[in-house]
Amino acid sequence: MSCIFCKIIKGEIPSEKIYEDEKVICFKDINPMAPIHVLVVPKKHIADLLDAAADKEILSDINNAIVNVADILGIKDKGFRTVINTGKDSGQAVEHLHFHILAGKVFGESFG
Ligand code: 5GP
Ligand code: ZN
Repeated sequence: MSCIFCKIIKGEIPSEKIYEDEKVICFKDINPMAPIHVLVVPKKHIADLLDAAADKEILSDINNAIVNVADILGIKDKGFRTVINTGKDSGQAVEHLHFHILAGKVFGESFG
């Protein structure tokens, strides 16, 4: 399996970890698009949001991790943007489900 996020999960590739629990790992994006840019990644290899529907608990686990990351980074009050790319047209580059948490700036209205 050549999945880069699976390698990060196994510790084969280093990452700047922010939070981790049994189901989810959260680490800084290597190419940040905002002052704070964290990826929230299920430890189980799920390709994308479409495949996540087959797992009844993973989105809840991810939501729980997002709350913990927001707490750890102190961004609950000011807020943050969450982005999930799915498939070719979205530009999804890594085929392992991940939520982007972007924060530390005021975002414009455009999505893109
Ligand atoms: P996507 O375009 O698939 O939604 O986002 C993939 C994200 O993964 C990109 O923002 C990219 O910078 C990030 N990324 C790709 N490879 C690595 C890596 O090896 N380490 C980390 N920390 N982030 C990565
Ligand atoms: Zn993977």
